Amino acid sequence: MNILVLNVGSSSVKYSVFKDEKEILEGLVDKIGEKTGEFKDHESVIEHIEKELVSKNISIDVIGHRVVHGGKEKESKVVDNEFLKEIEKYSDLAPLHNPHEINGIKISKKLGALQVAVFDTAFHSTIPSKASTYALPNSLCKKYGIKRYGFHGISHSYIASVTEGKVISCHLGSGSSVCAIINGKSVDTSMGFTPAEGLVMGTRAGSIDPGIIPFLIEKEEYSWQQIEHVLNEESGLKGLSGKNDLRELLTDDSKEGKLAVDIFVYSIVKHIGSYAAAMNGVDEIVFTAGIGENSSEIRKRVCNSLSYLGVIVDDERNTEGDMLISSDNSKVKVKVIKTNEELMIAKEVKKAVTKSHI
Ligand code: AMP
Repeated sequence: MNILVLNVGSSSVKYSVFKDEKEILEGLVDKIGEKTGEFKDHESVIEHIEKELVSKNISIDVIGHRVVHGGKEKESKVVDNEFLKEIEKYSDLAPLHNPHEINGIKISKKLGALQVAVFDTAFHSTIPSKASTYALPNSLCKKYGIKRYGFHGISHSYIASVTEGKVISCHLGSGSSVCAIINGKSVDTSMGFTPAEGLVMGTRAGSIDPGIIPFLIEKEEYSWQQIEHVLNEESGLKGLSGKNDLRELLTDDSKEGKLAVDIFVYSIVKHIGSYAAAMNGVDEIVFTAGIGENSSEIRKRVCNSLSYLGVIVDDERNTEGDMLISSDNSKVKVKVIKTNEELMIAKEVKKAVTKSHI
């Protein structure tokens, strides 16, 4: 089975083709619609991919789309017109992501292959009610489906598939989240109803006192769009220091830059501690995504605050790109694992197609 995996963003399309579980093609188009970009819109990118497939003599049986918010969906599903309408409803819950992904599904129809939606929220459907329920009036939660959905589920599920026991998966990138996993199942995660909760991120504040929001709305006369923009685009490392790329911040000697990194590390340490407590222990801590995979400095600083758990990092392993970076006498295994969301999507597509007997 040849599977085209599509990850459609506002200005980029990441694509790859899997022959069963082997990747045979990959590509990335960015700056879509920008002056310096090659493509004016997403339709022309899909045409470009179609031409590339024809030129390489690759036929496609199924297309797997990453969809960030799947609402109540617990698993990946084949998309028909009715189901597409259903997932369009979730755009309200992830306005920065879902509309682009849904557009991706619509314009990919011209490729004439079966389409499957793979949701970032689905992996977290196993989170128990005590961890997924917000202590807001029950009636409001029911009316609007307010609960902890969690995100980065495709990445965390990949980590779950290659680890064992009680695991804390730290997906640290431009967006970051931590996930508590027991025997392959998500039991808690730091992102919640939207991807805004949890860790301090590149441009997102993460968890803050909810009282700050009405306070700012009143004092600054913000509309809800403005406050959302401040929390999602102007906060986090960027809000603290003016820089949202950790590579730049790690070489920044300013007081603000140093404090921003301290706050980022502290928020990771606190989340790891709370999940070790929630699971009554931890067997493995995993670092993944842009920062997790590439910054030995951040890994070291986080792990140095986890000695109470018996975490001991081997400095040489940490800096030399080993997968296992804890020392042999560490009570908890600490690993660096390159996430593989595309492979996970391809596997999910296969499962969904088999299940629907198509
Ligand atoms: P992602 O969203 O997973 O692609 O991660 C992107 C982020 O990873 C960038 O914003 C960088 O801050 C961070 N990053 C990538 N490489 C490094 C590195 N060598 N050291 C620190 N941060 C890095």
